[in-house]
Amino acid sequence: MEPNRPLPTPLTPEAKPYWDGLNEHKLMLPQCQDCGKPFFYPRILCPHCHSRNLTWIQASGKGKLFSFEIVYQQLNRSFRVPTPYVLAMIELDEGPRMMSNLINIEPDPAHIKCDMPVEVVYEKLTDSITIPLFQPAR
Ligand SMILES: [Zn+2]
Repeated sequence: MEPNRPLPTPLTPEAKPYWDGLNEHKLMLPQCQDCGKPFFYPRILCPHCHSRNLTWIQASGKGKLFSFEIVYQQLNRSFRVPTPYVLAMIELDEGPRMMSNLINIEPDPAHIKCDMPVEVVYEKLTDSITIPLFQPAR
């Protein structure tokens, strides 16, 4: 089946553990070993203290909906997720925020509330690319 969205191209070595983790249904986050804070997206320096002393942790996959919008009109033809869908900023329990989609919920503001608990679900796009989406926590 053809992926319903443009494929990311995970070329940078600093993000490889993130993409490898998703293929194993693990949400991995870089964590600074000097200040202790996890962060997202992966990069070579801690965004909090600029340390290069980094490691990886497996996130719980739990978080809350920080913000969202409902997309009714597809402006990019290569993005073929059927509208309406929910573009969501997720705040993970570990602290970092990530942009994703909220799925398995009616795309209606009467049903979607900021701060609602959410959990990760994994969507396999190809044999080498899996992405994290989120659904209401069960
Ligand atoms: Zn740090």
